[in-house]
Amino acid sequence: MVEITKEFTFDAAHMLEGHDGLCKNVHGHTYKLQVTLNGDLKKEVSSEGMIIDFKDLKNMVKEYVIELFDHSFIYNIENEKEKEIGSFLESKGLKTCSIKGRSTCENLVGVIFHKLNINNENISSIRLWETPTSFSEYRNIKKTKNDKT
Ligand SMILES: [Zn+2]
Repeated sequence: MVEITKEFTFDAAHMLEGHDGLCKNVHGHTYKLQVTLNGDLKKEVSSEGMIIDFKDLKNMVKEYVIELFDHSFIYNIENEKEKEIGSFLESKGLKTCSIKGRSTCENLVGVIFHKLNINNENISSIRLWETPTSFSEYRNIKKTKNDKT
């Protein structure tokens, strides 16, 4: 099985309301995102022998993830305090990105997977690095199962 991976980075601020430590404060990360795909190799002339043209993958991830998250304040719309801060920033014309659930690395990688999976069903896994030594991975179980049969 052949897989391809493309790597991206984006900067964002967030907070973990209720966390028993420093992460309860607003702080930022340079997130690293690795998007991995597998699937049949294309037969069309321009993209023959490719799962997807890296350029098309780059454009898709930029449009559906990077532009949304980069230099934003990511907040949990279901949490009153975070929602209040997010709304305040929005009232000042600042960029925010609301998600359902706490903006942990584990939840964010799932949000990102679903945004991309709508556009390309060949995504087999996504890794989101919050720091150079910490990442969470979302694996597309359906995709893995299909590959075994
Ligand atoms: Zn953090």
